[in-house]
Amino acid sequence: MKLASSITYCASCHGQYLDRKHVDFDAYYDGPVIDTAGDIKVSIDDLIICDECLKNAGALVGLFPAEDLKTENQELGEALEAHEEHAKALEALISDMENTLSKFTSEKIQRPARRPRFVEVT
Ligand SMILES: [Zn+2]
Repeated sequence: MKLASSITYCASCHGQYLDRKHVDFDAYYDGPVIDTAGDIKVSIDDLIICDECLKNAGALVGLFPAEDLKTENQELGEALEAHEEHAKALEALISDMENTLSKFTSEKIQRPARRPRFVEVT
């Protein structure tokens, strides 16, 4: 298996794309004869597949281009940083609230020196 060295037709989509890379599997079969734009008939007997067909085939078995995974990984890393900053801000807020609450709970409630008098209201 190697990269195809010449521009050829894809054995899967039967297209000829100059901007695509093609993989030559060094395998041969009795492929179709297609009509080209110049009304020339071309036999596709070499198993040479374009990168787009390979990508689509790979997706069927759970393979994804490394560039897509790198982009997704970078996006997840940025989202993680944002969540970590948000978590730090929330932890600081919780700490402040705990300090404030501890001031109220640490003050002892003083009992009055004597029982309060109840005054009858007329
Ligand atoms: Zn193709």
